[in-house]
Amino acid sequence: MEFRVFSTHFSSFCVIMLPTSRGYRTMARRISETTVKLSHPIIVRAPGLLPMLYKPSELARDLGIPVSTLRDWVRIGVPHQRDGRGHIWINGVEFAQWVEVQRGLRRGPSLGTGEAYCFCCRQVVRLVEPKSVASGKKILLQADCPQCGGRINKGVSHGES
Ligand SMILES: [Zn+2]
Repeated sequence: MEFRVFSTHFSSFCVIMLPTSRGYRTMARRISETTVKLSHPIIVRAPGLLPMLYKPSELARDLGIPVSTLRDWVRIGVPHQRDGRGHIWINGVEFAQWVEVQRGLRRGPSLGTGEAYCFCCRQVVRLVEPKSVASGKKILLQADCPQCGGRINKGVSHGES
């Protein structure tokens, strides 16, 4: 199975190519439609969460946010599970990873020269020998991720890298 990642400032999705008898079938899986603006205390506190299941009310208290905010995030993608009574449980470590991904998705413009965010392995990586492709008023720098081999597209303005 081959994974390819396409990301722009507008959307990002993993394209999974499944070999079939007649070539490939592609499945696009959108990684995140909405990014969340996270306040500084959450970014500081999330890595301290424990690898245990939290009730939304407990997690919201530990993060210092309203539980309604947390429930909004659950709707747009915080990893969670439900028990037999429909109650939501959130693993602290998975939540911290989600926070990291949200930060990465929003980090685009502040990446250093020659850096890009890979949506497949979810980390900042070096852009190795990127190709420039014109895309409207922007330029897309395309390269293969040195960590996972996924395709990275980084949108930049003229003159940036
Ligand atoms: Zn990667």
